[in-house]
Amino acid sequence: MTLFEKICAREIPATIVHEDEHCICFKDIAPQAPVHLLLIPRKPIPRIALAGDGDQALLGHLLLTAGKIAREQGFAEDGFRIVINNGRDGGEAVPHLHLHLLAGRQLEWPPG
Ligand code: AMP
Repeated sequence: MTLFEKICAREIPATIVHEDEHCICFKDIAPQAPVHLLLIPRKPIPRIALAGDGDQALLGHLLLTAGKIAREQGFAEDGFRIVINNGRDGGEAVPHLHLHLLAGRQLEWPPG
């Protein structure tokens, strides 16, 4: 079981800000911005490159939910960034698909 599956199963504590039938969103334990949330599907897809055609609705749901959370948490208007790290060069540490939602400061571009 991945670390994030354990968070879904409430075996590891997390500060959950949103959850529904398909996904769960919680605060990152090592925030890189004043707001740093992780949005994950309950289904343990390891990374975006391993998502399949059958995951189309789920992936759409994740993006729509990211926007909904941004509006509800009040950072949609000032702006935010969604990041998905995939594999070694992408900086992926946890092999369970997750969207980073970063907000609350001016984010730099290009990323490091
Ligand atoms: P990534 O490097 O894209 O795989 O991102 C993994 C993220 O998970 C990092 O930003 C970590 O700070 C975060 N993280 C690791 N363990 C926990 C945890 N127990 N609760 C919340 N976030 C975590």
